[in-house]
Amino acid sequence: MIVTIDGPSGTGKSTAAQNLARHLGFLYLDTGAMYRAVALKAMREGICLEDKKGLTRLAKRTRIGLKGTRARGVRVFLDGSDVTRAIRAPRVSQAASLVATLRGVRRALVAKQRAIAAGASVVAEGRDTGTVVFRKADLKVFLTASLAERSRRRFEELKRAGHRVTLAEVVRQTRARDRRDRRRAASPLKPAPGALRIDNTRLKSSQVFDKLSDYVKQVQKKALLR
Ligand code: C5P
Repeated sequence: MIVTIDGPSGTGKSTAAQNLARHLGFLYLDTGAMYRAVALKAMREGICLEDKKGLTRLAKRTRIGLKGTRARGVRVFLDGSDVTRAIRAPRVSQAASLVATLRGVRRALVAKQRAIAAGASVVAEGRDTGTVVFRKADLKVFLTASLAERSRRRFEELKRAGHRVTLAEVVRQTRARDRRDRRRAASPLKPAPGALRIDNTRLKSSQVFDKLSDYVKQVQKKALLR
């Protein structure tokens, strides 16, 4: 079974997807972490973020590992080293949204995402997991929340992680990322046909989880009746 959860940043996708995957015993696939890992490597290697060919080659030759651990949550590995914290820096967020506009990079990462999911039951989260990566997913969800609430959540998260940012800066960065994700020609952010929409501006994570597990039960029941 494949469940996709897409939506803009700060809508609570990661919490929702991780909780659901843990509950169901499914693999959790954080596709955003993969764009972040490619962006981080490009920054470290000094590759210009507009160099389409260079970035596509880089995405193809990069090994990205996603490992779930009981004690420390999901860890992200870039060519074998742990970059879980490094990829969350605000500079990497902006760089990731730039490299994600490139078709070659997307093609390389979509192939890796499908390979990771092959034969497994998965909860995938991102921007295009329902529209492109797993078009035949059993359940597609599109999460939204107001810009103000998404920015506030991201600001708190960054503060907790020790980054020095202002709320105004986070609002500006969130708006810029949204715009780029929605307007790009390659796999723009939009709800997949048939996706269930959840507005998470005022919901608790437990309420989102309850809605998602209800949807999953309905899908499983339908599959049994078929
Ligand atoms: O989800 P997260 O904020 O970690 O993603 C980082 C960036 O990667 C996003 O701003 C988006 O531009 C890009 N992305 C994407 N397609 C995905 C997942 C993430 O374009 N499936």
